[in-house]
Amino acid sequence: MLEVRALQAFYGASQALFGIDLDVSEGEVVALLGRNGMGKTTTLNAIMGLVEPSSGEVRIDGEDVLGWPTYRIARLGLGLVPEGRQVFPNLSVSENLIATERAAGKSAWDLPCILNLFPCLTARLGQSASTLSGGEQQMLAIGRALLTNPRLLILDEATEGLAPLVREEIWKVVRKIKDVGIATIIVDKHVAKLTRVADRYYILEKGRTVFCGSSDTLAKNPDLSRRYLGI
Ligand code: ATP
Repeated sequence: MLEVRALQAFYGASQALFGIDLDVSEGEVVALLGRNGMGKTTTLNAIMGLVEPSSGEVRIDGEDVLGWPTYRIARLGLGLVPEGRQVFPNLSVSENLIATERAAGKSAWDLPCILNLFPCLTARLGQSASTLSGGEQQMLAIGRALLTNPRLLILDEATEGLAPLVREEIWKVVRKIKDVGIATIIVDKHVAKLTRVADRYYILEKGRTVFCGSSDTLAKNPDLSRRYLGI
């Protein structure tokens, strides 16, 4: 459903992406790996139209969307949970969800579905989002993205700053989302765990895709992990 070819992007005069190649099929979970500053977030933002790519191709269902505004890309079924979550801090949990639900229109997901996926949010519905724990905020952010009815969910730093037990909850949710046929691209620092959840992974190095493989090939290639991930 998503094909990215030779994608390049700049921040002003500074080039961040030099040639990203990436494919995601329907229902597939793909991990984007690489050390800090290698271009993972920029790649996700360029796919979503939040960073303007300078050249290359981003195709969704075969249609080249390079340079399209983010809202049009989102309407094709891409939902981003950005690094830092970015929920509305001054709105309550239910207001965050209802505002998204209304803006998104018709969706396979509604409020009861989200609360079924994240039962701990039920007791928090009247509470301001800024008072939630990091894990609850991430659940709320994923819930908001699901309400937009994505076919491809993009999770940047999916479990950053979360306690181990909460991280496990997020991985479980990623599996559940896969079970209902939604594809996912995930960036996360917990590589061992991430590659167990993902079907395939890509490694980025200095703004280029340098490796692509199935998750078990990473486990069998400690050299790759040492060279590109520093682990
Ligand atoms: P991290 O794991 O640290 O988030 P990353 O792999 O997601 O890293 P990016 O955040 O995409 O990497 O950064 C890629 C390059 O672009 C880095 O050299 C970074 O310094 C640069 N960069 C990122 N955001 C900006 C910005 N807003 N302005 C200028 N340069 C930026």
